Order: sequence, then structure tokens, then C-alpha cells
Amino acid sequence: MALRLYNTLSRKKEIFKPLKDKKVGMYSCGPTVYHYTHIGNLRTFVFNDILRRTLKYLGFELKHVMNITDVGHLTSDADEGEDKMLLGAKREKKTVWDIAKYYTDAFMKDIELLNIETPEIIPKATDHIKEMIDIIKLIEKNGYAYVAGGNVYFDSSKFKSYIDLAKLNLEELEKHSRVEKDKNKKNHSDFVLWFTKSKFEDQEMKWDSPWGTGYPGWHIECSAMSSKYLGEQFDIHTGGIDLIPVHHTNEIAQSETAYGKSPWVKYWLHGEFIILGKDKMSKSKGDFLRLQSLIDKGYKPIVYRYFCLTANYRQQLHFSYEALDAARNAYEGLRSRVLELRKDDKKKDSDVEAKTKHETEFIDAVQDDINMPRALAVVFAVLKDDAISNKDKLGLLYDFDKVLGLGFEDFKEDKVVVSKEVKVLIEKREKARKLKDWASADKIRDEIKKLGYNIKDTQQGVKVEKI
Ligand code: AMP
Ligand code: ZN
Repeated sequence: MALRLYNTLSRKKEIFKPLKDKKVGMYSCGPTVYHYTHIGNLRTFVFNDILRRTLKYLGFELKHVMNITDVGHLTSDADEGEDKMLLGAKREKKTVWDIAKYYTDAFMKDIELLNIETPEIIPKATDHIKEMIDIIKLIEKNGYAYVAGGNVYFDSSKFKSYIDLAKLNLEELEKHSRVEKDKNKKNHSDFVLWFTKSKFEDQEMKWDSPWGTGYPGWHIECSAMSSKYLGEQFDIHTGGIDLIPVHHTNEIAQSETAYGKSPWVKYWLHGEFIILGKDKMSKSKGDFLRLQSLIDKGYKPIVYRYFCLTANYRQQLHFSYEALDAARNAYEGLRSRVLELRKDDKKKDSDVEAKTKHETEFIDAVQDDINMPRALAVVFAVLKDDAISNKDKLGLLYDFDKVLGLGFEDFKEDKVVVSKEVKVLIEKREKARKLKDWASADKIRDEIKKLGYNIKDTQQGVKVEKI
């Protein structure tokens, strides 16, 4: 079977065939660094990571670009509302440059904690203003741009396939821009390529351009940076589903009219949202959960990655602490099984057919539009299968982990530091066990449990685990 990916362009699963041999160019819209990344955003970055790991696992040669948006993104995805970076700077009484640096660093730390591999190239929008100006010039030269009220606009009425990705009519598309009409625009769905008449007088980020001093519209950065690093046409573009109707629709309009090649990108993949209560989690609402919020509550960051893998990326995922606890239990169960398997050095041969069956099922799962719940089910099937030696079980799991990224090979016993009170109880219980006083031993174990620790009697002695 070949890799099949759900392409938003066709709304179908399609067999993945790169433009050039086994080489894959992939672009992911990155974070807007005016605030901390929330766990909803991070789900999208876990999805990108699973996709990149899958491509490499299947033998593709990958070049992955993920941008950092540090200019131009307004609070509406269209051209209205406040400038997000400026909003962050005002909130924290810092410069926009400081805000960008601080939240980029925080984002990089989060993705590392989630075992998300670093894309090959992470370009910042503010480092690519020249490239943005160049592509706007091309769009203008090809007749798709106009200047009005000092700003440069894209004329969406001239680009006939404007509604193809979102598959919405223009009226529905307009709802996504949900704001007051800009008098300068010829059509509601036109959008700004370059602002000169900034409505933000205290705008710090400004550059010279052929149209006057100003700054770029949000969408142009992705068209400019993707072509710089991946060429005028490439294989895969990803992002969250909210980006379909405005940002990605506009990216396509810009790139196809600048370079005259269609389709600009062959496969568009979009990740569904994390839902909190009834709403999608969003940065602008302010009451979002960060990875650090989960860490502060005692969760290991990798448990959140595991939680993301329990649903297909195209399904909404409802966040709750009960659901996260279930993910933690499953993850910890997996971890202790891996640690047990490592201790076993008995020689036993595996049934080759059984082993191959698991390998095939895992590959089928990842090739079926990176189906992680199915891939995890294969992991548990391997663990249960008596026909496979412990050594081979480990081998299979380590191999599958190249995609899952749960860090099986790095699993270590947790170092548990217990209080003096717990230590004394453990010793008392040991004494009771030596005297075969099982009733007292059980009672003491319950007391220890109430203090937050589980006691396990293993061949290597007593093991203490934090509950
Ligand atoms: P931003 O930092 O707002 O530019 O968003 C970064 C990425 O997170 C984009 O691909 C968004 O589509 C995605 N995203 C935003 N909110 C959510 C959410 N609640 N769940 C999943 N992904 C999201
Ligand atoms: Zn983008």
C-alpha cells in the first residue's frame, strides 16, 4: 500500500506522489509570536511532526520549512482589528522585537518538550521583507494588484480559482473576514499585500518599499518564504483548519498569480481543533491553557503528546483533565511495560510471521492518512502477543517510535524521592512481610497509598511509584 493523505483541495484521501522522486518539500504555517502558544496550537504542531516523521519513516527525503510570524498578523485573519504584535508589546510594556524574541524562545522550548523535531528551516517573517516586496512586485506586474488609499491590495475578482480551496461561495468567505468594510477595497475578499497608511500610528516595524514606508500584510510572508526555500511549486502545505478560508486561500492567490503555476501546492493538509468546553481554544481570548499549565499540575509534557495521538488529526479533540488522566494512565502503563521488557534477558525466538504482521499493520496505519489511534493499537497488540520475544517487542516499539515520538528508548525509571514518614512505613511493612503478617503489610500499604505512593514487590525488591 502507498501513503494516502487527505487533501483539502479535493476533500479526498489521495495517494501521495511527490513532484520529484522521493524528495518532499513541506511548508507549515508557524506560530504568531505575540503570546504563549496554547495547547490547541501545539496539537497542530504535533500533527505536523507526525507527518514529517511518517514521511521520513517511509523513506522520503524531507525539507520542512516552518515560519515564525513576527509581523503583520491582525486580530482578524483578514485585514482588520488590531496588530497582534503591537497588542503583545502594549500588554507587557516591551518593544515588539522583545515580544517576538521572548515568545519565539518559549515556543521552541515547548516543541522540544513535546519531542517535536525541529524543521530543517525556521525562517522569521521580519528577515524576509525583501522577498515579500519582490513577490508583491511580481503580482503587481502580472495585473493582480492595485493601490488604494496608500495600501497595496490583491484583486481577488481577477483570480478565477479564488474559492477553490475553501469550497465556499464568496458570501460565505466574507463571513470569515467578519469585520467592517474597508472603503479602499474593490471587492470584499480583496486583501492587503502591503500597508503604508497604517492605522496603528505607533507601529514600530516599518520598512521602505516601492509603495512607501510600511509593512507587509500577513499572508504574503508564507508565499515569499515558501518559494525561497522550496521553489515555486512544492508538495505539502499544512496548518490548522481555521487557516483554510482566509490565510491559505490568499496564499494560493498570491503564489499562483506571481509565478503562473498551478497547483502551487499539490497536497493541503489541515489539523482539527482542540476544543475546551464548547469553544475552540484561542490565544486572543486570553483564557487558554499552555503546556506549562499542564506541567504545573504535575503532568509530564509527553503525556500531552500521547493525548494528541489518541485522536485522528482530522477529528476535533475535546480537552478535559479526565481525558488527559486517561492518556497519562495509558502512557504510564506503556512506560512500565517497556521498562519491564528491558530487564528481561531470556533467550526466546519470535514467530516471524507474527512479527511481520505487526510491522505491516503499523505501516498500513501510518499510510492511512497518518492514523495514530490505529498505530497505537498496534503497539498494544505487540505488547500482548506471546508469539513475540521481549527483545523483538522492544525492537518493534523502538522502530514504531520513529513516528510516534514518545521516546521509548529514553524511558528511565522515575527517581522517587519519598518523605521520612513514607520511608518508615516501608520499613515497617517489610518487617511485617518477613513475619508473614500479610494483614498488617496490606494495611501499611494502604496507608502509604493515602500519602500518594504505590508499593510494588518485585524480584529486585520493593518499588515505590508516585501516584
Ligand atoms: P497562530 O499562532 O495563532 O498563528 O496559530 C498557530 C497554529 O495553530 C495555526 O496552524 C492554527 O491554525 C493552529 N490553531 C489555532 N488554534 C487552534 C486550536 N484551538 N486547536 C488546534 N490548532 C489551532
Ligand atoms: Zn501561512
